Amino acid sequence: MIVKQKIMRSVSLTAHPLGCAWDTCDQIDWAEAAKEGRIPGYDKPAAAQFPANVLVIGGSTGYGLATRIVSSFVGGADTINVSFEREPKENKTATPGWYNTMAFERRAVQAGRKAASVFGDAFSHAIKEETLELIRKEFGKIDLVVYSLASPVRVDPDDGTVYRSVIKPVSGTYRAKSIDPFSEKMTYAEVEAATEEQVAETVKVMGGEDWKLWISSLAAHGLLAEHCKTVAFSYIGPEVTFPIYREGSIGRAKEHLERTAAELSILLQQFDGTAYVSVNKALVTRASSVIPVVPLYITILYRIMKDMDLHEGCIEQMYRMMTQRLYTGDPVPVDDAGRIRLDDWEMREDVQQQVEAAWEEIDQENLLQLADLEGFRKEYAQIHGFGLAGIDYSRDVDPRVID
Ligand code: NAD
Repeated sequence: MIVKQKIMRSVSLTAHPLGCAWDTCDQIDWAEAAKEGRIPGYDKPAAAQFPANVLVIGGSTGYGLATRIVSSFVGGADTINVSFEREPKENKTATPGWYNTMAFERRAVQAGRKAASVFGDAFSHAIKEETLELIRKEFGKIDLVVYSLASPVRVDPDDGTVYRSVIKPVSGTYRAKSIDPFSEKMTYAEVEAATEEQVAETVKVMGGEDWKLWISSLAAHGLLAEHCKTVAFSYIGPEVTFPIYREGSIGRAKEHLERTAAELSILLQQFDGTAYVSVNKALVTRASSVIPVVPLYITILYRIMKDMDLHEGCIEQMYRMMTQRLYTGDPVPVDDAGRIRLDDWEMREDVQQQVEAAWEEIDQENLLQLADLEGFRKEYAQIHGFGLAGIDYSRDVDPRVID
């Protein structure tokens, strides 16, 4: 079939098998080049000991995939991914994460590393058990657990209750400039406050409860190595997005995640291990594209950071996390609240001053000058395997194969 990009309400319904594979391989090539010191601005890793076995929960796209790539191709790790995917059919494409995983695992195995995946609902007991069994049989103890889930829904594994996360303010209606990056239309988003119940549900889905369940199960089954580490991802961002993000329902979940890191560090003391939250940069991923207002902030930020030569994608961020934060041989650098900060360049005063000025000034007339809409759409297409030079999109492909 000829695979075309189909987007409905900022969600891509299709993914290109060859394009996703190409994009994953491109990130692998970048990581290998960085390891050899061939990427300006990214030093070769210091001679530190990297984790040998890495479990990535949510490792098929975005930050999780990038961490898996760096773990394997910079650190030489054997890796396990747990992610939720739709498999391809003869005339229907899979999720991008399925293609990315096929491409990653082929390259990892070719490079002599073990790589395996469990596809299914990471929140469920069944998938946890299957993953634990795989680790026990094929991998041995885990040195690093990366928790990178972004999900709109969670089914409680014990009583079957369905919880849904919402991205809403918590006090009063939030009204702010917004864009549809696909139609290039500026609008005003008006988002009503979440109810107490919706906030609680968002914390259930995106807070630290499930992360704790994973770490406790691994610990209880003797599958965590001495000096093991675990990391989950958070976001803070600028004041203009505070009402919808950091001080909104999702921010409450992130605060819960951050508190969970402290609890997990206590649990991991028995292994001389530590839990961290890493605050990452705002980036175009499948999860971030559907948050109200955030795409406008991301497009302004991209314009400014690209002009200042400071722009990074998931792979650059995760390279810095692994080689300059988690595994340097020295204590892990953290902020006053104990968090790893990879949003350091995004939050630089000179960057944020320009973002604020652009945010004030931006309107339909100057939108394309002040915001990198093209960059947003290009990256969004790319994470679904589209818009890549080198891929012949007129070619008839079998959606079940990546070459
Ligand atoms: P993403 O959508 O690219 O990746 C999410 C991953 O979770 C995928 O592998 C997906 O398959 C998996 N997943 C979702 N539901 C699942 C389920 N029920 N069972 C198993 N797997 C499931 O998202 P991302 O942007 O890389 O986000 C990862 C984390 O990083 C999130 O916690 C997010 O809040 C955080 N973060 C994102 C940004 C950003 O701008 N994108 C910035 C800072 C922090």
